[in-house]
Amino acid sequence: MKIYDAIIVGGGPAGLSSALILARCRRSVLIFDVPSCRNIESKAMYGYLSRDGMPPSKFLEICKEQLSNYPNIEFVNERVTALDGQDQNFKVATEHGTYKSRKVILATGVKDEIPKLEGIEKFFGKSVFICPYCDGWEYSNKPIAVYGQGDRGPAFALILHEWTSNITLCSHGRCGGTFEERKRLNELNIRIHEPPILRLEGQGNQLERIVFEDNSHIDVCALFFNTPIHPNAALAKQIGCRLNHREEVIVDSNALTTVPGVYAAGDLSVDIKLVIVAVAEGAKAGYSVNKELLKEERLIKL
Ligand SMILES: Cc1cc2nc3c(=O)[nH]c(=O)nc-3n(C[C@H](O)[C@H](O)[C@H](O)COP(=O)(O)OP(=O)(O)OC[C@H]3O[C@@H](n4cnc5c(N)ncnc54)[C@H](O)[C@@H]3O)c2cc1C
Repeated sequence: MKIYDAIIVGGGPAGLSSALILARCRRSVLIFDVPSCRNIESKAMYGYLSRDGMPPSKFLEICKEQLSNYPNIEFVNERVTALDGQDQNFKVATEHGTYKSRKVILATGVKDEIPKLEGIEKFFGKSVFICPYCDGWEYSNKPIAVYGQGDRGPAFALILHEWTSNITLCSHGRCGGTFEERKRLNELNIRIHEPPILRLEGQGNQLERIVFEDNSHIDVCALFFNTPIHPNAALAKQIGCRLNHREEVIVDSNALTTVPGVYAAGDLSVDIKLVIVAVAEGAKAGYSVNKELLKEERLIKL
């Protein structure tokens, strides 16, 4: 069986970036991906210098097109279901086969918990968002809603105040938060609306109105929600990587996890969750893998 220099699990920005560095180091690389990059539902990707506003699908298309110039990279569109072995001898399994590699890079991203609100699917990524750093600017000074249950709402609404002062915090039940946060919301005229949300309404992908169970409604042009994020950490756990309390994979400054030979990059690991950061972390993981392989091949000093 062929032993690849590196197997990369996850073909989002982080995994593809690792692949590019390794490809240019003439390493043999196998990438597994179930195409469902985190921001794929988004109309545009912001905050990436030189790509601000580019649709995520276009970004991925260009990445893959450029990677196709390297014959030492192979893609398999399958989910990796198991990972075991140790440094120099990893075994990666999918439903249809088993593969071997010397190193592994995990770039499996996270899963967002989308609130169960009627109508939300068609607005998600277009006028319903999770991240003000990504999508806040377009709603500067416009009326928006913030969704966050219990203690999640007040802190998030206060952050959004950087972008607009016209905010309604929808707590979908009793609003939580500390005394200080509630006081600050009041000072900043951030309205709190506690009745449960009945549904989201709007034209096409544009959210226009939030209707509540008590028959009240508010008119808004965007909703930002704050719900838990779940790292896709099953494989990292299986191979024994240390995770933090949020289940993010802990890595050192070379993107190495606590398991020799296993690297992690992108949203899966502990850091800011933006595309440009994922790409940088992926590049770092690719670089580190090559450096480690060079050492093992005694081409650089141990
Ligand atoms: C609605 C929305 C809008 C966003 N907008 C922006 C923005 O404007 N700007 C910005 O910088 N960031 C934005 N982000 C964040 C951005 O999407 C992430 O930071 C980025 O996608 C992280 O890249 P990644 O490669 O780590 O993970 P992902 O993009 O999630 O890629 C991980 C890949 O791994 C695959 N995978 C997972 N498990 C397996 C497995 N077992 N086997 C095989 N494949 C697997 C997944 O299917 C996926 O394709 C947004 C996020 C959301 C949700």
